Amino acid sequence: MAHDLVIRGGTIVTATETYAADVGITGETIAEIGQGLAGTREVDAAGLLVMPGGLDAHVHCSFWEDVPPDVPQWSDNFETGTKSAAAGGITSIGNMVFPHPGETMLQAVERESKAVAQQAVVDVFLHPVLTDPSTQPLSDIPILSERGHKTLKYFMSYAGFAENPAPYLEATDLAAANGMLTMIHCEDSVIIDRSLERLVQRGDVDFKYYPQSRPVEAEVAATARAVAFAENANAPTYIVHLSCKAALDEVRKGRGRGVPLWVETRPLYLYFTSDLFAEADGPKYAGQPPLREQPDIDTLWEAMATGEIDTLCTDHAPWLYEYKVFPGMDITKLRPGVADLETMLPMLWSKGVETGRLTPNRFVELISATTAKLFGLFPRKGTIAVGADADIVLWDPNDTHKVEAATFYTACDYSPFEGWDVTGWPRITISRGDVVYQRNELLGTPGRGQVLQRENFSPPAVSE
Ligand SMILES: [Zn+2]
Repeated sequence: MAHDLVIRGGTIVTATETYAADVGITGETIAEIGQGLAGTREVDAAGLLVMPGGLDAHVHCSFWEDVPPDVPQWSDNFETGTKSAAAGGITSIGNMVFPHPGETMLQAVERESKAVAQQAVVDVFLHPVLTDPSTQPLSDIPILSERGHKTLKYFMSYAGFAENPAPYLEATDLAAANGMLTMIHCEDSVIIDRSLERLVQRGDVDFKYYPQSRPVEAEVAATARAVAFAENANAPTYIVHLSCKAALDEVRKGRGRGVPLWVETRPLYLYFTSDLFAEADGPKYAGQPPLREQPDIDTLWEAMATGEIDTLCTDHAPWLYEYKVFPGMDITKLRPGVADLETMLPMLWSKGVETGRLTPNRFVELISATTAKLFGLFPRKGTIAVGADADIVLWDPNDTHKVEAATFYTACDYSPFEGWDVTGWPRITISRGDVVYQRNELLGTPGRGQVLQRENFSPPAVSE
């Protein structure tokens, strides 16, 4: 029987296996893996790696339609964001859903679900963000879980958290009781607010002081508290964008006590050190937390290899260059985050696999398999297996070319990696059986992407 699409002659790479075989796709699903499969349509994958599409659990593609055009905001909506994902080999993105003023978490998720249904080219999962417990009832949490949204996000860096942390611990409890994973931004607001205030009082607002305005101890204090929250609530907890060794040490202590913790890091922290902030265009590298130092970079790479760091996600936050770098820019006017959906996988392959720091299987685990497991999507996503969604990237490990933001599909207009020579790029990206991208051509149509309903959290087995 002929499949709708056969990927012929490639090398399949999953988190656990590497082998040569054809992949037969029927409809949206991988129907057969074997030799000599027949398809109505065929793709020649000779010399290519056939990997599960990337999952990026941390993006910001929430374009606010009701905001006047002169008010700066992230530039990607779900259309440009998911096109950018597809071109970067990523077939599912997890978007942070911030309630608008007066909105509940449930209303925000409903609003964004509609936008996904109209705009998205690949699949999207949604993380409701608790930003103000006084207007966002925690009673939404069980309902969100019932509707397949199995995560809750909050920020320890917001003043509201420091003023009244109790509802956040209660929310963590509720999330755990309802099969959800709690995602926490770990920076202590009291320390960062006071650190910034001191610098402002001294007049040290030049951007070179940015790291001192959000120092390591702020991340360490909040990470320790997140670990304690997780321990106290026995709540599976995911630390977003961990940036430094000292924060990882807090996770290590918690894990030593059996606390259910998982850790994400972010590309910015793997490639750049804080001295860049002293350069004229330094603000373009800014995220929260700031860039750290070389020993932190070394620790993060090692922890990605050993499994102490579980996932790599972009924290794609596509500010236009003019909103990041402008005359009079200083540490009080910062806009955190960079666009990274098209560069995360190629950069990780180039700087991680090509250099021998990561195996191809570990690469897949970091950017796809473990992410799918943690976010209730495995084995539907995150692997190449019969019955899984046909979310596949055909990877060309020999393609070397420069990063050139002008060619990207994101609405953002620069990349922090502009001009870098990178080896390993997606040749073809397939989402639920549809070829949505082939090199330099975006084929996926807006509206084909879906909001993913997810399974209850269950801890991934420790990989051998
Ligand atoms: Zn973020």
